Amino acid sequence: MGRPAHPSVLWGLASYQCRAPLRPKPPVTMAITQIRASTTATMNSQWIVNPTPKATIAKSAKITSSSIVVLSFPPSGIAFRVREGNGEAANRVTHVKSRAVDLTGKRAIVTGASSGIGRATARALAALGVRVAGGARRAARLETEIAHELDVTDPQSSARFVDAAIDGLGGLDILVNNAGGALGRAPFDESSDEDEAWVIGTNVAGLMRMTRLCLPHFADWGHIVNIGSVAGRAAYEGGASYITAKFAERGFTYALREDLLGRPIRVTTVDPGLVEGTEFSLVRFKGDEEKAAAVYRGVEPLQPSDVVDCILFALTRPWHVNVDEIVVKARTQSSGARILRDE
Ligand code: NAP
Repeated sequence: MGRPAHPSVLWGLASYQCRAPLRPKPPVTMAITQIRASTTATMNSQWIVNPTPKATIAKSAKITSSSIVVLSFPPSGIAFRVREGNGEAANRVTHVKSRAVDLTGKRAIVTGASSGIGRATARALAALGVRVAGGARRAARLETEIAHELDVTDPQSSARFVDAAIDGLGGLDILVNNAGGALGRAPFDESSDEDEAWVIGTNVAGLMRMTRLCLPHFADWGHIVNIGSVAGRAAYEGGASYITAKFAERGFTYALREDLLGRPIRVTTVDPGLVEGTEFSLVRFKGDEEKAAAVYRGVEPLQPSDVVDCILFALTRPWHVNVDEIVVKARTQSSGARILRDE
């Protein structure tokens, strides 16, 4: 038997998990790997698991060099010690498997929750036990626990919304900056001041404003998810103002990541391609249903739930992980410009 590791090694690892939020959590599963080659013991008999509070052993295993011993801890049960039966400290524990974030009880703001991706996101978060404050101009269409009129292009409306949301939620953990859209699908010569102001005001200035207003309300756990687009990654013809706006959204997301480095706030941009089941194209073509429907003809586009999957993936990664960006497209779309359609 080699020299056993000092118990402090184990306590050190325990404190790694202690950074978990204090709200109730389901059992934590930890995997302890790379037990020293000469160690052969059975968890139940020769090893004493001495957790605080008491842990239950999910799987007892013969411990060899390649064993993974899985312990299941109660919600608040983080601190633990593992000792050999003779009282010696356990061998070196070199890896503790991190766990997915449980969103239960977290508090979220979702902008543009009255339709499409925002509505689907708000629903999915609520189904996972997240308390959601949703905002949109058409407040009557909001289904969220806390629902208020929000125009992200209007500083007063934005401030009122954030005050009401924080009042209702009692704090903030998640901001999904989703409100946005495009206007027009024509060469830039046909653009107008009004359309450009709407597109930049909503997708860029509004998103920055909401972020700025929400930042003071994040405490020890935060995650900002911005909804970008493939339009923010490569240009296509006839979409200049929207492309400009989504490139800016991505630039802002990168800049925010830099400014927030070291603070407990994660930042992600989720950049989808063509998404059906939204009002995006109807808005883009200013109510022209025929033109809007043609966008999705002969192709199987993404659905809002596909984008929601990406958002939830980023939100639920273990706390030490920041998913910086997710780009998601239909299988038959390779870029904003290139979509394969059935004849
Ligand atoms: P959508 O169904 O039109 O939803 C847009 C949402 O934004 C609506 O809830 C709308 O609500 C809200 N909104 C618009 N202007 C607002 C303002 N000034 N203040 C507050 N809320 C405002 O379209 P969607 O596809 O779900 O769009 C959601 C996001 O996904 C947008 O950022 C969009 O650019 C992005 N995206 C969409 C696609 C796509 O193909 N659908 C692809 C890539 C990215 P009100 O009208 O009630 O205010």
